[in-house]
Amino acid sequence: MNELPVVVVGAGPIGLAAAAELRERGLRPLVLERGERAGAAVTEWNHVRLFSRWGELIAPAGRRLLETTGWTAPDPETYPTGQDWAHDYLIPLADALGDKVVRLGVEVVGVTRRGRDRVVDAGRDTEPLVVRLRTADGGEERVTARAVIDASGTWTGPNPLGGDGLPALGEAAAAEAISYRVPDLNDPRERAHHAGAHTVIAGSGHSALTAIVALAELAKDDPDTRLTWVLRRGEVGDTFGGGAADQLPARGALGLRAKAAVEAGLLRLVTGFRTATVESDGGRIALTAESGARVEGVDRVVALTGFRPVLSWLSEIRLGLDPVLEAPVRLAPLIDPNVHSCGTVYPHGAAELSHPEPGFYLAGMKSYGRAPTFLALTGYEQVRSIAAEIAGDRESAARVELTLPETGVCGGAGVVDESETAGSDGGCCGSPTPQLISLGSVDSDS
Ligand SMILES: Cc1cc2nc3c(=O)[nH]c(=O)nc-3n(C[C@H](O)[C@H](O)[C@H](O)COP(=O)(O)OP(=O)(O)OC[C@H]3O[C@@H](n4cnc5c(N)ncnc54)[C@H](O)[C@@H]3O)c2cc1C
Repeated sequence: MNELPVVVVGAGPIGLAAAAELRERGLRPLVLERGERAGAAVTEWNHVRLFSRWGELIAPAGRRLLETTGWTAPDPETYPTGQDWAHDYLIPLADALGDKVVRLGVEVVGVTRRGRDRVVDAGRDTEPLVVRLRTADGGEERVTARAVIDASGTWTGPNPLGGDGLPALGEAAAAEAISYRVPDLNDPRERAHHAGAHTVIAGSGHSALTAIVALAELAKDDPDTRLTWVLRRGEVGDTFGGGAADQLPARGALGLRAKAAVEAGLLRLVTGFRTATVESDGGRIALTAESGARVEGVDRVVALTGFRPVLSWLSEIRLGLDPVLEAPVRLAPLIDPNVHSCGTVYPHGAAELSHPEPGFYLAGMKSYGRAPTFLALTGYEQVRSIAAEIAGDRESAARVELTLPETGVCGGAGVVDESETAGSDGGCCGSPTPQLISLGSVDSDS
């Protein structure tokens, strides 16, 4: 079985980092990516500026490989957009790995154990895993693998607008008016959708703040533009992050700009709003909350309420997932936003990311399930540890090599529906622990 490839699902930042780590260990990575280029999900948010500096966005093994190719490293102190991340790092890294390692335009539609469905005990340690693919021309293929690292992200699983986790009643029927991504106001068509219109923004993470800042700028240029920001939580609380004291300064600055837009009256803030229904309202739409509160005369909704993992094609794999977060059971308690309301991240590796299914790992954004605090830096360490584990280097797999800024700023969202929940116990924020980081949420539905 050792001669078989280690299949990595997804050529995003974490999948490519996994391939670079595996390659360094003399293993055979095979990255399967459904998009036509590496970083396909990242390029869908091309226009969003990351809150992490370049220095935090390049995987150590990816850098080592790229440095053999004449690649020019971006300035580590600057902040790329999604487009920069893909074009100046992810695509060159995929090129450096080569097209025998990174196959584009192939979608993974199933993973199983050769000749065995999920129920069969025998052979789970000895038979290889099998990955089922769909090619761009509709063909099917099977690839046998000694191990599988699922780094397929959560981009295709945005949370719905509905406050209870199901789509709000009428949400599907109103699909044309609802978008689940940060609007690109440099795109004239998208700008025209929002200029002079009434847009509702839902969500409280980095994406929601990014959308608020962009739309508030538009509202300054076009005073007929109306903006309403709906939040599930009862108070704004720490939604704006840690401000000048935020451990991630760019995210802190973004929060301050969003706060300034609210204070300048550029948008109306509605708290305690858990969307229950979306109805047509004379050519526009109206949102009604569980409380009965209504927001009427809405032209567009930008729902930025976090993500959830797509698990349907893993039905034949014995997953060990936490019932709350849909993250690996040993990882979930470390990242649960109900407990770590500041978004604290504990270093973790192969041990926390494995499943009852031998040789199968979730990594990257998908490993966090519904938790909102994933950072690329964490994923790079995850796949270093997983590659070491697959290579049989248990000592390296178990060693924590994640160096993170000191904790101390509670800038996060957590699942804070009620104001008293946020960071009130001083838990993860109040008692700094070495090698923890308080991150806030990348995207959150609270
Ligand atoms: C708007 C936004 C801003 C963010 N900003 C930051 C930041 O500043 N700093 C930070 O550290 N993190 C940030 N993150 C979080 C995280 O680091 C990124 O989302 C990162 O892209 C996650 O990498 P990934 O490889 O796990 O997943 P992805 O980037 O989503 O990559 C997954 C890949 O898998 C492919 N794929 C999916 N399904 C299949 C399939 N079935 N078969 C084959 N291929 C498949 C996709 O096409 C994609 O290319 C941000 C996230 C978002 C959404």
